Order: sequence, then structure tokens, then C-alpha cells
Amino acid sequence: MQKSSSKICGKCGSNYLISDRSLGGKLICVKCGSSSIKTKSFAIVRNKKFIYLILIILVFFIIVIF
Ligand SMILES: [Zn+2]
Repeated sequence: MQKSSSKICGKCGSNYLISDRSLGGKLICVKCGSSSIKTKSFAIVRNKKFIYLILIILVFFIIVIF
């Protein structure tokens, strides 16, 4: 059993995951038993894109106002 902190469950968002040897080392969520695992870095990239989008909108508003 291995704990991974860089990955989170795609269903409940828990970061408490174990790699099940009976499933060929596939990561599963301890809380809900889901095998759909997301990487945290992907979520951060999405967040950064969201912040970038807000910045573009803010700059656009500033240009329109002045
Ligand atoms: Zn889960």
C-alpha cells in the first residue's frame, strides 16, 4: 500500500489513495473506492488558466473605462 499526495480522487476530491496490488498497482480512493484519479498539478493548471482569464477580463475593463 502506497499513499500518494500528488494525486486526488476524481469523485470526492480526497487525497487519501492507495495502490491496489490486486488491480495491478492501480490507484483507488480509500474514502469512496473510486478508481478515477486526477493529478493535483492538472487542477493547479486549470486554476492558473482561470486566474489568467480573470486578468484578461480586468485589463479589458480597464481599457474600456479609460
Ligand atoms: Zn474518492
